[in-house]
Amino acid sequence: MTTPQALGPDLDQAIRAAVALIRRSRHAVALSGAGLSAESGIPTYRGANGLWTKFGEPTIDGWELFCADPGSWWEHVLERREGSEFGHAIDIAEPNAGHVAMADLEHMGRLAHVITQNIDNLHQRAGTRSITEIHGNRAKVRCMNCGGRDRLETISLDRLPPLCPECGGILKNDTVMFGEPIPDDALRECYRQSAIADLFLVVGTSAVVYPAADFPVMAKRRGVPLIEINPDETPLSDIADVAVRAPAGMALTAIVELLQEL
Ligand code: NAD
Ligand code: ZN
Repeated sequence: MTTPQALGPDLDQAIRAAVALIRRSRHAVALSGAGLSAESGIPTYRGANGLWTKFGEPTIDGWELFCADPGSWWEHVLERREGSEFGHAIDIAEPNAGHVAMADLEHMGRLAHVITQNIDNLHQRAGTRSITEIHGNRAKVRCMNCGGRDRLETISLDRLPPLCPECGGILKNDTVMFGEPIPDDALRECYRQSAIADLFLVVGTSAVVYPAADFPVMAKRRGVPLIEINPDETPLSDIADVAVRAPAGMALTAIVELLQEL
C-alpha cells in the first residue's frame, strides 16, 4: 500500500490537498492524456522519451489525403498498421494502476466523467463507464456520413474504403487526425461536462493540444479548482490549485487509498 507518509512531504501534502478538493466536489471531471498510459508501455508524443521528442513531429496531411482518396488511404493504413511500433504497444497494453484508480474513483462516486485524449481504450478496460474519447478510439471505425461507430474487427475490409452498414457512407478509422474536425457528439459532451464540472483533474497531458487543453481553463474561469497530476510542469501548472508531481499510477492510487481511509 502507498502510504502518503512514504511519498515525501511535498507529495504527501499535494495528495492530501487533492483529496480534500475531491471530497468537496459533486461533479468532478478528469481530462487524461498520453502520460496516463505511459506506465502501460505506450509511448507519449511529448515529454521525456516521447516519440516526437525522439523522432520529430510527423507530417500533418493525413486528413487531406483521406478526403482526396479514402480507398488509397485505407490501403496505406492497413499496410502500415502491421509494422507500427506505436500500434503494437497499444495492442499489447494492459490498463495500469492509474486507469484502475480512475475507475475506482468513478465507482466511489468521486469522479463523474472522464474526457480522454487517448485512443487506446484502456480507461474502459479498467472499468470506467462515463467517458468521452475526444480523439477517438484506435479499435473503432466511424462513418463520415451518419457518425455511427463500430469495432474495426466487425467490418469487412475486402473492399476499400469500407462502407457503413447503416447508411452506406464511407468509413474512416475513429482516431481523429491532424486537420480533421473533432466529431460533433464528442465535442458537445466535452463542452457540456466542462460547463457542469465543479472540479477538474488533469492527468498526464502536456495540455498543448486544442480544444482539449481549453476545457480545464474554461472551468477555471468559473472558479472551478484544478488538480494537475504530471511529473512535469505544463502550461496549466500556473493556474492549477494543486500540482501532484508524480507518475499517475502512484499518485492516483495514493488518492484512492486516502479517500478510502477517511
Ligand atoms: P503528450 O504526449 O503531449 O504529453 C504527455 C504528458 O504526460 C507530458 O506532459 C508528460 O510529462 C506526462 N507524463 C509522462 N509520464 C507520465 C506519467 N507516468 N504520469 C503522468 N504524466 C506523465 O500527450 P497528450 O497531452 O495526451 O497529447 C498527445 C496526443 O496524442 C493526444 O491527443 C492523443 O490523442 C495522442 N496520443 C495518444 C496515446 C494513447 O492513446 N495512449 C499515446 C500518445 C499520443
Ligand atoms: Zn453511416
